Amino acid sequence: MNSQTQYDKRYSFEFFPPKTDAGVEKLKRVQQELAAKSPSFFSVTYGAGGSTRDRTFQTVTQVKQNTGISTAPHLSCVGDSKSQLGEILQQYVSNGIERIVALRGDLPSGMGASIGELKYASDLVAFIREQTGDHFHLEVAAYPEMHPQAKSMNADLDAFRAKVEAGANSAITQYFFNIDAYKFFVDSCEKRGLDIPVVPGIMPIINYENLVRFSQMCGAEIPRWIRVRMESYSGDPTSVLQFGEEVITSLCQSLLGMGAPGLHFYTMNQSAPTLAIWDNLDLS
Ligand code: FAD
Repeated sequence: MNSQTQYDKRYSFEFFPPKTDAGVEKLKRVQQELAAKSPSFFSVTYGAGGSTRDRTFQTVTQVKQNTGISTAPHLSCVGDSKSQLGEILQQYVSNGIERIVALRGDLPSGMGASIGELKYASDLVAFIREQTGDHFHLEVAAYPEMHPQAKSMNADLDAFRAKVEAGANSAITQYFFNIDAYKFFVDSCEKRGLDIPVVPGIMPIINYENLVRFSQMCGAEIPRWIRVRMESYSGDPTSVLQFGEEVITSLCQSLLGMGAPGLHFYTMNQSAPTLAIWDNLDLS
């Protein structure tokens, strides 16, 4: 973990593009509350297979204008042609966007195998560099507990290396609860000479049933001791929130203490759970 301690700590908050007018209004309030913490940047997800192409763009420009804080769109390659991706990149360059979270993405169910021209996130990173040089700071995804479709941890680390070699500047992890998985991932990167910052992705626990569902899809392991406690709070959302806040605060404290270069919060467009953890960490 030594080289990760050399980076200045950075904090970021992730949103998804709202679907309704009420969601848009709610996000305006949430982004103001989180902007008060002066994050390094906000980010806005890109729906599976490009399904939120326009809404991601609108949300990114709205958040940036409304808060004055750098805002990064996520961009995935699996559902878009090179010409579509090129147009999106030019739109972001013209609108003063300087950071992108570059992903392969997942196809919405029913769309079959990969339909884009670029197969992996490393191809997208190379394409962005080819089209726009060093204009963008590029974030990529990292998986301390291994991407669920990877053949092995070594194969996944090779895929991570390909993204770094294609020009990624830093990485954000899938969320995890096993701190050793992060430590071993970072150590493995260091052994391979991959020395970009790997920022832990932090998922506040808001709703246990949703967390179980997401975790099954993305391969994040919920440790037994957390499951056992959470299941004993069934029907008691206050206790779920309270225990979740304690668990995630403790995880963040340990990560920062061991030299993690910052934290990226998956806010789920809610401010209270992230702010509660933030305040416990006494970050500002
Ligand atoms: P890749 O790095 O391309 O890896 C995908 C799989 O292919 C891995 O199993 C990898 O080991 C393998 N692989 C890579 N290269 C090769 C190769 N050359 N040969 C063989 N195998 C290879 N999804 C969205 O749709 N929208 C979002 O906004 C979004 N935001 C995210 C933000 C973060 C921080 C994270 C961690 C994930 C996000 N995701 C998002 C989910 C992500 O799109 C999925 O996890 C997706 O399945 C993989 O994307 P990737 O960029 O990690 O792909």
